[in-house]
Amino acid sequence: MILICGGAGYIGSHANKLLAARGYETVVFDNLVYGHREAVKWGKFIKGDLKDPEEIDAVFENYPIDAVMHFAAYAYVGESVVEPEKYYVNNVANTLNLLHAMREHGCNKIIFSSTCATYGEPEKVPITEDMTQKPVNPYGASKFMVERILKDYGNAYGLKYIALRYFNAAGADPEGEIGEEHNPETHLIPLVLDAASGKRTDIKVFGTDYPTRDGSCIRDYIHVTDLASAHLLALEYLDNGGESGCFNLGNEQGTSVLEVIEAVRKVTGRDFKVTRTDRRPGDPATLVGSSEKAKQVLGWRPEYGDIETIVEHAWKWHENEKY
Ligand code: UDP
Repeated sequence: MILICGGAGYIGSHANKLLAARGYETVVFDNLVYGHREAVKWGKFIKGDLKDPEEIDAVFENYPIDAVMHFAAYAYVGESVVEPEKYYVNNVANTLNLLHAMREHGCNKIIFSSTCATYGEPEKVPITEDMTQKPVNPYGASKFMVERILKDYGNAYGLKYIALRYFNAAGADPEGEIGEEHNPETHLIPLVLDAASGKRTDIKVFGTDYPTRDGSCIRDYIHVTDLASAHLLALEYLDNGGESGCFNLGNEQGTSVLEVIEAVRKVTGRDFKVTRTDRRPGDPATLVGSSEKAKQVLGWRPEYGDIETIVEHAWKWHENEKY
């Protein structure tokens, strides 16, 4: 049985769907602060919080957990700068509670949601896993700290772990059963879709004077279902005796903000207002990852690399199936 902490959230719910489809039994543990109960359509659901050691301990008491996927975290970069305590407590200290419960119950495999934000301002692109990690905000730092903790627990206690460093998660379940819904929403694609559907008056482009091909920021958008498939491969890899480690998960393709807007226009057939504004503090010009290692070692093959496919799935969800 697989425990999915944060399985009611965006990426966790897609992993839950895939695991269930592949015949795994799952238990989702989520405090529903940002997650959606309706997103847990497979496996068991327990409402609980990692801040409470007894609640997480009870899950291991009651279910034969073989491995953990840990998605539960706060992930608003801007908020992390003004409220770092919230991020270090939830993302780091509460993860220690999870790791403690795992040790107590002899569970020694974990797949951890990390991020390209652990690299900070990259010295070059595409980013490879061996590049220096120098996070520039508390969110990235909190994930970096957990990576370090996993490594130390691996050395000392035999914990087996895979840290998956996501680039920009995007899109939605191709079958339309689950998708992205954040409140507040800060991510580019859902905001552009809001502009396309008239829920917002315009989309703001944060900075058009970056040293990129069109002046707007370039990111590496990766389909959430492809992220989910990497989790399954990581789990199988550890089950087959694979070594602990870290993997980038991206498309290895950069798409600029203006290109995303163009893709939304094309997919939706709608026009909307685009407002050019100042840069958002802390945004690097270009973040693109190399996923060669995940391809080589885990055998990962992203299926939905094309930005228009990503936007198409996100649009279908946005228009029809929201929670
Ligand atoms: N962005 C933008 N307008 C928005 C939201 C985001 O221009 O309303 C830009 C942002 O500056 C970044 C890119 O879109 O370059 C992706 O931002 P998002 O917040 O989706 O993800 P991040 O890269 O920050 O993790």
